[in-house]
Amino acid sequence: MAARFFAWKRLSGVLSILATLILWSGWAGAAAAEDVLIPSSLCHAVSQTMTKPQTTPPGFTCKGKASGYQAGSVWLRTRANQHGIDPNDLVLKVHSSRFDRLEVAFTYTDGRVIYQHVRGGDFGTHWRTGGQIAFEAPVRDAPVRFVTMRFDRLASVNLLRMRLLSRGEAAIQSIALAICVTAALTLLLLGAVYNTSLALALRRQFPVWQAAWAGSVLLWGVIWSQLGLLIVPQMAGTLSSQTCTMLSCLAVTFAACSAITALDGPELSRAARWFTLGLAGFVSLLGVPMSLMRSGPIDAAALALGITIIALLVCVAGCLIWAWRHGSIEARSFAGAWSIPILTLGGIEFIDTRTIFWGGGSQLLILFAAAWQTVWLAVAASRTHAHMRIEHDRARQAEAQAHELARRDPLTGLRNRRGFVEAVAPMLELAHSGSSPAALLLFDIDMFKRINDTHGHDAGDTVLATIARRIERWEGPMCKVARLGGEEFALMTTGMDGFALEQFAESVRMGIAACDHHEAIGPGTVTVSIGVAQADEDSDFRELYRLADEALYRAKRLGRDRVMFHSPGQPPSASIGGVQVSTLH
Ligand code: GH3
Ligand code: MG
Ligand code: MG
Repeated sequence: MAARFFAWKRLSGVLSILATLILWSGWAGAAAAEDVLIPSSLCHAVSQTMTKPQTTPPGFTCKGKASGYQAGSVWLRTRANQHGIDPNDLVLKVHSSRFDRLEVAFTYTDGRVIYQHVRGGDFGTHWRTGGQIAFEAPVRDAPVRFVTMRFDRLASVNLLRMRLLSRGEAAIQSIALAICVTAALTLLLLGAVYNTSLALALRRQFPVWQAAWAGSVLLWGVIWSQLGLLIVPQMAGTLSSQTCTMLSCLAVTFAACSAITALDGPELSRAARWFTLGLAGFVSLLGVPMSLMRSGPIDAAALALGITIIALLVCVAGCLIWAWRHGSIEARSFAGAWSIPILTLGGIEFIDTRTIFWGGGSQLLILFAAAWQTVWLAVAASRTHAHMRIEHDRARQAEAQAHELARRDPLTGLRNRRGFVEAVAPMLELAHSGSSPAALLLFDIDMFKRINDTHGHDAGDTVLATIARRIERWEGPMCKVARLGGEEFALMTTGMDGFALEQFAESVRMGIAACDHHEAIGPGTVTVSIGVAQADEDSDFRELYRLADEALYRAKRLGRDRVMFHSPGQPPSASIGGVQVSTLH
């Protein structure tokens, strides 16, 4: 049952990682897709080498795609009145990408041009939460005619996204986006911290990868959303984009490692495990250098990365399905829990996400899905942890019970020989050190066989239980009692010797003889013979028992119902019915 439970938990963890991988590959796809919101109206111009700011290129073309701009500048121009937005109240939102400098020119109908610009490392007051840069057209009597953007050393026009909207709408979107991003990042932070602490508590490898994954998604979220610019404004622009790409590759690697290390049972072959881990490492190996690319075949590299991520996803899915088939059925029910993030991804693929979440788009969806998963993972891991604790407590309880039972006599509930030997060990130690004398009183019921023969075995059992209840009354810090076997009982005393010990042994004999066995065997008394041995500096239990047994044997031989002492240091004595008599040796 426990094995099935853990297999189930492992698989549920893996499912979450798989969903994450799907989401991340979706992110890679979203990042690679052409995502310009005003492309139809974009005319472009390219100058090979960088020209001075606030200049205009010789001519725009509205056909084909811009090319050869990576070392120079690319101009993109749109008509302000083409988008159903009031040209007197205009905000341009550009989703930050890789460029050195972006200059926006608002050309008014009266011929006036107003320039605004940002550059890598300095977005000024233009940055907005959710990876956006906002340029507000100053309100003038004349409306805006053209909006022109000039990107210096832009990595790829395909990675650009931009939107035109009204001032009021832009402000509301910025606030809403900031709230959403902060909420998602807070959830991710909690998840990352919690997963880290769980990793430490569970001492397993896969939560460490999970924590690394959550941490990298968190960092990605902070940088992508540009909230990080509050702390390090110099990161604005290319440095942020590069770090984001690097982090997203690392996140995919961490997620795959987490899934594969979670499947640490025999259900997965070593070859499959190492191949998938190798592929996971390759994603980072490919992605990290790619993130540093400023020019060259950046689109081709993104495509290669996307394909590698898909291959990794297929491998992880294969490992998961294999483990599922060789593992627990319950995993299926957990798969339902992951349908939401998977559906989210599906939605991203089929629904245009560019305008949703106020321009936060698929990135924000992914951020939310990642946060949701991290929290879910934390909850699932806590449940596993709680379950493990309960099982651990139960096992300890059962162990303690078994320990206790192994030391108890089932008929009388008194200690058995094993329990007795353990319980009296401290008393013997005291005797060895000379701090407190110890003595063993061993007694045997007289003619017990006759009781059994006359009244039956059950009646004999009742007599044994009655005597056990009686001697239990002497149990305490100074005296331990036990049934050593058959009709033989023992008491170990500490702090008593000489006359006090004799008196005590005598009171034990009389106390037992005074027991009422009327219900079991009718009228009559049941007596015991007692042999007493006192411990000296080096006598162990076995030796003490042997001496007490000898004394008991003599008590039987002398006619039973009496106490016989065997104390090497003291003259042996005996009593019958309270009268002291000399002892035979
Ligand atoms: P003595 O005075 O010499 O000790 O005589 P005795 O009859 O008591 O001694 P003996 O050793 O001949 O018989 C002990 C009997 O105790 C035999 C055995 O059947 C009985 N006995 C041992 N354990 C139990 C038990 O758990 N329940 C019952 N009812 N009888 C038991
Ligand atoms: Mg007996
Ligand atoms: Mg006996």
